[in-house]
Amino acid sequence: MSSIADNIESVTRSIQKATISAGREAGSVTLLAVSKTRPADDLRAAVAAGQRAFGENYLQEALDKIEQLADLPGLEWHFIGPIQSNKTRAIAEHFHWVHSVDRLKVARRLSEQRPATLPPLQVCLQVNIDGESSKSGCHPDQVVALAEQIRELPRLRLRGLMAIPDPDRPEPALRQSFRRLAELQQRINASTPQLPALDTLSMGMSGDLELAIAEGATCVRVGTALFGRRPPPGEPRPLA
Ligand SMILES: *Cc1c(COP(=O)(O)O)cnc(C)c1O
Repeated sequence: MSSIADNIESVTRSIQKATISAGREAGSVTLLAVSKTRPADDLRAAVAAGQRAFGENYLQEALDKIEQLADLPGLEWHFIGPIQSNKTRAIAEHFHWVHSVDRLKVARRLSEQRPATLPPLQVCLQVNIDGESSKSGCHPDQVVALAEQIRELPRLRLRGLMAIPDPDRPEPALRQSFRRLAELQQRINASTPQLPALDTLSMGMSGDLELAIAEGATCVRVGTALFGRRPPPGEPRPLA
């Protein structure tokens, strides 16, 4: 079995390779380690191998790990799971980034609840890029208007867009979805030349990070390829 450190090295190499073959600048894609369901010791191993940014989906589990790892300086916590509006306060207080903002109500609450002592919360707007009604994310038709409203909120900094296209679809379809997200981002930037350009495209996971990078991803969210397979939903999760 390969170690977490080995996996970080090999995923980092894949990211570098894909970045170069896309003709993009080396270092323009960051690795977000998706650590949901993994015990705090796995995150410690990743930190020892140089990883700093972690993505979590489940609030209570994340808060536990943030506390358990409070002795490690410089960690960056990203919330990437669906957001219930009664959970926004804890998210606003404990995270640096939120990738899964998909409606104005949640954005407003995060802005209001972001402590004044902290810098603005960095956020991505999650887009339901394949238009599947069952998944979270705002409809692609609403993205431009919603981005405009979110950018008015004083304690949030809108950095870009996020999507989770179904990774099991054939490559051309998947690639199309990534491309559509990049195009939406370009449309927002073109319509708001007076504002700083959105610079973050959070797309690509273990199975499709090369394709996402080819279409402009700046942040890939990788779990399985770093930490191994997660237990299927419903089985007891190995909490720290
Ligand atoms: C779990 C998860 C990932 C990581 O997926 P892997 O296939 O394990 O790399 C990425 N993004 C989100 C939003 C997730 O929930």
